[in-house]
Parts: sequence; C-alpha cells; structure tokens
Amino acid sequence: KFIALEGGEGAGKSTQARLLADALRSRGETCVITREPGGTAGAEAIRGLLLGTEGEGWHPRAEALLFAAARSDHVERLIVPALARGDWVICDRFVDSSRAYQGGGGGLSDAEVLELHQIGSGGLLPDLTLLIEVAPEIVTQRLAARDGDQADRIGGRDASYHAAVAAAFRRFAEAEPGRFARIDGNGSAEVVHAAVMAALGPVLP
Ligand code: C5P
Repeated sequence: KFIALEGGEGAGKSTQARLLADALRSRGETCVITREPGGTAGAEAIRGLLLGTEGEGWHPRAEALLFAAARSDHVERLIVPALARGDWVICDRFVDSSRAYQGGGGGLSDAEVLELHQIGSGGLLPDLTLLIEVAPEIVTQRLAARDGDQADRIGGRDASYHAAVAAAFRRFAEAEPGRFARIDGNGSAEVVHAAVMAALGPVLP
C-alpha cells in the first residue's frame, strides 16, 4: 500500500509519517518511509536546488518541472520497486503538494501539473492520501518553535500563497473523498496519530 501525507508547513507530516511507520512495523509489516522532494540521491540533489536557490528563486513552471523530475527518479528507483516487493510506502508529500504549491500557490493549472506527473511518473497516485489540516495560528506557533528554521524552506512566499495552498488541498480532498482522508492536525502528536490510524482502518492488515 502507498500512503502519502500532505499538508502545509508545520502540519506535523514528518512526525506522523514516523509514528505510522512504527505502528505498521510493530504489526510485522515491512515499511519504507520516504519524503518529497527527495528519497533518492538524484531527487535529494534536486531538493538542494529547489530549497537552496537564493534571490528570486524559480519560476513556478520551472519549479514544477524540477519537482516532477525529482518525483520521477523517486518513483522509478524507490517507490515502484518497494510496492512491487509488497512493502508499505509512507511518503511525506507527493503529487498533491505539486498541485497545491505550484498550482494553487504558483498559479499553474491543475491540468498542467497533472500532465507533468503523467510524463514523469506515469500518473502514479497513492492508495490513500492523509491531508493533515492545522489552524494557521497553531502553525505559526509550531514554526516559531522550530529552531533556526524558516517558516517555508523555499523563500519569497507570503501568507496569501500559503492560504491558496491550504485552500487547494481542501478542494482536492473534497473532490476525491475516496483517495483522501482529512485529519484534524491541531492536537498533540498522539491524538493526531490516533486519527491517522482510524483513517487507515480500511486498508490496515
Ligand atoms: O517541510 P518540507 O520538508 O516538506 O519542505 C519542503 C519544502 O518544499 C517546503 O518549503 C514546501 O513548501 C516546498 N514544496 C513546494 N512544492 C512541492 C513540495 C514542497 O513548494 N511540490
């Protein structure tokens, strides 16, 4: 099974990915935990380009191509082989981040982002996408507590960009209720983990 975690900065995706992988392993499942952009050497190199570029950064279309290229390497080299072995794949961000950030935030059309995903990764979609939603005030508090880290690891984005990202995630979840589960991410890590496990109920072994 292929599970993706989605949401804005400070939603707690990485923490929940770890807790979910631990829970699956304690049930005897083999589980690969990975992230986007990244997950393979090539994709991590592209992550460095995306997150390390100073000045005006990337045009949204170039940014979308880099994300699609990173995902292509990640899908071919890591995700598809793991799924073929029968492993669980838990991925921190996947194509819906491209749709929400480069589409919702950056202004590309959803069709364009999906076309790049079709070319790069054959249109692969997760079996279940957990959208972790957190109130903006709580995100601000959490990010302030992240030692020396920026709110958004890619610079030059304002609050209206992030509001557009959150709205886009919500629209995608509403449009595909079978592929998405919306998780209230405002509580403690333990409380959110319980909600994640409940949402996974139908696909758990
Ligand atoms: O926090 P995380 O490790 O997910 O950081 C990845 C960075 O890449 C974040 O700043 C996020 O806003 C950005 N991102 C993006 N478009 C994507 C995926 C991630 O702008 N498709």
